[in-house]
Amino acid sequence: MRKPEEELAALREAELLRELRPVEPAQPPLLVVAGRPLLNFSSNDYLGLSQHEELKQAALEATERFGTSSTASRLISGSLRLHHDLEERLADLKGTEAALTFSTGYAAAVGTLTALLEKDDVVILDKLCHASLIDGARQSAATLRVYPHNHLDKLERLLLSAREKGGAHTRVLVVTESIFSMEGDRAPLREIVELTERHGALLLVDEAHAIGLLGASGQGLVQELGLQNRITFQMGTLGKAVGSAGGYLASTRCWIDLLLNGARSFIYSTAPPPAQAAASLCGLEIIASRAGADLRAKLWNNLAHFKPTATSAIVPLVVGENEASLAAAQALFEAGFLAPAIRFPTVPRGTARLRITISAAHEISHVRELLRQLRTQGL
Ligand SMILES: *Cc1c(COP(=O)(O)O)cnc(C)c1O
Repeated sequence: MRKPEEELAALREAELLRELRPVEPAQPPLLVVAGRPLLNFSSNDYLGLSQHEELKQAALEATERFGTSSTASRLISGSLRLHHDLEERLADLKGTEAALTFSTGYAAAVGTLTALLEKDDVVILDKLCHASLIDGARQSAATLRVYPHNHLDKLERLLLSAREKGGAHTRVLVVTESIFSMEGDRAPLREIVELTERHGALLLVDEAHAIGLLGASGQGLVQELGLQNRITFQMGTLGKAVGSAGGYLASTRCWIDLLLNGARSFIYSTAPPPAQAAASLCGLEIIASRAGADLRAKLWNNLAHFKPTATSAIVPLVVGENEASLAAAQALFEAGFLAPAIRFPTVPRGTARLRITISAAHEISHVRELLRQLRTQGL
């Protein structure tokens, strides 16, 4: 039998071993690691809401009133008014009839894809889609097809072949992110919408890194482009810019009803605790408010200083080899900055990188300090 020690040694040999280190949250953008306060450039808390007084208060009050647990799955006796309010708020923000929340974005992706897809269906993914989407597609009974990142011609060929082989009942589902989590670039959503419409396919867009950041009220890239009525499924997480935790899917009432009857990660899991639902609701309210618009303005101003051509809050600095990326991250750490190395299998082999994220909690002075440090490291 394979020994775990040997597998660990192989990972270490390839510079691919991961280790956990405890961190102590402080007021963003600070994070304390091994007793040292660092300027955090790796968080997905893009608006700094995780330490916002109103969210903390909402979570505390929900705990006081409703307790620490939802005590059962949603379909049994765990469906709190708070969950329903949160789903109405999400549908409202996303411009859809309905929404369904899950414990995490990962659970939303896997639950949705496995429930929607049956044998003989086809699911077509961008090559750089997040692991949760890949896992959902793989665990479903459908045929999985992948197109090179943002490659529209190849996508169209896959759509054509799926239609040719499929019958009247087969589902063809295209899956993409709006902002890609490790590249920080955008999908050509308008063109993808046109292609899926032309070939009669469904489209799921994961807005994990766009909600809170894009769109007039922080709805995401789909709304910024005015595509909300032409995309069947808008997915995302409440654990990034929203400052809480959980995943969601926004769609028509009919699709949502089908999912709550079929998504196993939804059905067979205890409903998210009251504090999580309350903090999510509060985060969404702030995002859609004047205060949210001010935070977005500050974030984009920070980004303009860091990289004027950035189209999202994620700026990858591709180093290449694992060892070099670890050394670059370590040098940053010693200089007081946190931006861990991102390696295979999170990104393709040979593209190890520092993934810099900029937030509204940074000041311009922090951004300048980082730029100066990166220059001394030749990055
Ligand atoms: C983070 C992320 C998820 C998963 O969301 P969690 O709430 O963290 O489980 C899904 N898709 C993308 C693109 C992500 O970046």
